[in-house]
Amino acid sequence: MRQGQTNATQHIPAPSTRPRWYRAFIVCILPIGRSLRNPFFPERVGGIAHLVYNEAMRALVKTSAQPGLTATDRPDPKPGPADAIIRVTATSLCGTDAHIYNWDPWAHSRVHPPRIIGHEMCGVIVEVGSDVTLVKVGDYVAAESHLTCGHCFQCRTGQAHVCKNYRILGVDHDGSFAEYVALPESVLWKTSPAIPRELACLQEPLGNAVDAALVENLTGQTVLITGCGPTGLFAAAVARTAGAAMIIATDVSAYRLDLAKQVGVDHVLNATTETADRIAAAIREITAGEGVDASLEMSGNPTALHHAFSSVKNGGRVTLFGIPTGPIMFDLANEVIFKGIRVYGITGRRLFKTWYRLTGLFQAGLNIKPIITHTFPLKDFTRGFELINSGQCGKVVLFP
Ligand code: ZN
Repeated sequence: MRQGQTNATQHIPAPSTRPRWYRAFIVCILPIGRSLRNPFFPERVGGIAHLVYNEAMRALVKTSAQPGLTATDRPDPKPGPADAIIRVTATSLCGTDAHIYNWDPWAHSRVHPPRIIGHEMCGVIVEVGSDVTLVKVGDYVAAESHLTCGHCFQCRTGQAHVCKNYRILGVDHDGSFAEYVALPESVLWKTSPAIPRELACLQEPLGNAVDAALVENLTGQTVLITGCGPTGLFAAAVARTAGAAMIIATDVSAYRLDLAKQVGVDHVLNATTETADRIAAAIREITAGEGVDASLEMSGNPTALHHAFSSVKNGGRVTLFGIPTGPIMFDLANEVIFKGIRVYGITGRRLFKTWYRLTGLFQAGLNIKPIITHTFPLKDFTRGFELINSGQCGKVVLFP
């Protein structure tokens, strides 16, 4: 933990500005050990093995190939020439983190421990590498979690969101469930200090919803959202702010459908208490037999996916964001071709078009506060994962 950095508004000196006496002081005092928390050293400090530039931080680490996470000390990250070190002030739990926590087959095939996980974050820059020019110490930033290569075909043709070589923060690169994280300056997004940390850390997942909802304009349109997990709820809030005429949402959770109403959804349909046929009929009735202009499929559930296609009007559009667990049977002729619809696959955010658009949506009054249902200190992460596994939550935010 670096000294003198305890909140976002405090002045944060760069390590290079530390006077010579500081190093001598640290060398003399630190060996006393981290167990001594004297009043002159309110922050946790490194022990005998962690002199001066080997200070330690608290982090949540996937230490081995099995379920769970370990809260442990790790060395503070060091910046490369183009990197910044960010003191993480808020970081939220994502479904990806739950996959890694639960250690499901996807995580087993994709993640190589040891790894600090977490990728939705905001924080304050406390140190920069020698070549950094875009940000400076003290800047309040969020992070694009896709670390793109910058030189593949996609990166060079304005499609970096599908970079062939991208690495993911918290999966391929040590992540944000920690006091500090090192990131290339190219993925940092300067954020208005007016946006509180529990909202600022959500810009990354919100960006998914912005791209899903606004891949085509939906002002004045009727919109169906199948799946009210956090990204589906974000998409509902985005659609509302962007001027959708009417929003219908489906989910299997009464808890989440209630959150959907709180962010402006007009009609909610519970797929647990209603049959698939009755939900399709209800959508037809609500839209006076026309169907919706746009379906946003946010669940990956096969029944919901067919609702998304059967409910969209001829010539409309379907956005696919939810990820099915396996192949799905599909009547392409009747569900897509003869309807003349447009289908979009959405992955990640447009770099950085989505981030600019999200900033504008905040200015336009985007309200996502009801979706942030729980906040915990970082050390209480297990409660957060239990909530996610139960489905009885919106977004869970941790404060390192
Ligand atoms: Zn690339």
